[in-house]
Amino acid sequence: MVVPLKDSYKRPIRDLRVSLTDRCNFRCFYCLPHGEPPIAPKEQMLSYEEIEYACEIFVGLGIEKIRLTGGEPMMRRNIEVIIEKLARLKFVRPGLKDLALTTNGYFLPGPVNSLRAAGLDRITISLDSLKRDVFKQMTGVDVLDRVLEGIEAAKQAGLQPIKVNAVIVRGHNEDEISDFAGFAREHEVKMRFIEFMPLDSGHEWSRSDVVSGREIRERIEEHFKLEPLDIHRGSETASRFRFADGAPGEIGIIAPVTEAFCGACSRIRLTADGQIRTCLFSTVEHSLRDVLRSGATRSQIEEFIRDVVMKKEPRHYINDPGFVAPSRSMSFIGG
Ligand code: SAM
Repeated sequence: MVVPLKDSYKRPIRDLRVSLTDRCNFRCFYCLPHGEPPIAPKEQMLSYEEIEYACEIFVGLGIEKIRLTGGEPMMRRNIEVIIEKLARLKFVRPGLKDLALTTNGYFLPGPVNSLRAAGLDRITISLDSLKRDVFKQMTGVDVLDRVLEGIEAAKQAGLQPIKVNAVIVRGHNEDEISDFAGFAREHEVKMRFIEFMPLDSGHEWSRSDVVSGREIRERIEEHFKLEPLDIHRGSETASRFRFADGAPGEIGIIAPVTEAFCGACSRIRLTADGQIRTCLFSTVEHSLRDVLRSGATRSQIEEFIRDVVMKKEPRHYINDPGFVAPSRSMSFIGG
């Protein structure tokens, strides 16, 4: 019997986020405001075979959910190949229950059916505005219609229920919060509102730009009454609500800045260049790539992972006076 991963604070580690690439075709001002820094050489990136092997070991250690992310994960060539490899793990390693993808939706309209066929269970699509000009201003690209098409294509492909992520930033899109709630009702999606976090490459984040989870809820309730979902939140990042009038769709509020949920965190991350990060806000990384490539045995790799997990931070320090933001932006960490 393998003992599932636990950190030194006794938190079980069940969720792994795997970044497939650092590259992104969007230039969201809260993530990559000054464009991409130089791209790391290809040899430093984990191959699909390495990702598959690492994930198989992680699942053997108790990981139940894998989410593919980036950068923009759909910019990695032949993404179906890695989805298929990881989906197969569900049969080899019954502990894996969920294989999900977070994407900006731009590349979805064509290949979404093949992602589904390859074994993808769920999808989350980012959408920061329903207005063309604001969308362009926030993401750096004028492609709102294409992303809306992507959401529709994902629905048609049967990837429901779809989650839609909106990062809410003061002075940009807080006036659209109730429109997003209306969007959730109309399109039957799970809308996720995310507080702006200090993970932008320019380190220009300011507390005054954060729209709190509480304000988000209040703004929604000016239009639609919400009821908390009667579920155990567990390690979920979102507090979840249904519409009191029974309309379809769901609201989730992710408030890591004003209502931190570190005590229940079950997540670790693997960057595209093979570094394990134990917290979004970690300032240190642990090179699984070097261990994988050193000829280490499976049990040595397992031991390395267990040791790293024991170093998981008790909490993030965003609200402490001496807070230092990680040097890499969300697009490198893998959101
Ligand atoms: N490119 C994909 C996408 O757009 O969904 C996946 C990667 S992206 C880094 C994952 C999520 O992180 C997106 O929903 C994005 O909006 C969010 N994100 C990026 N920077 C953020 C920040 N500074 N604060 C809060 N959320 C952020």
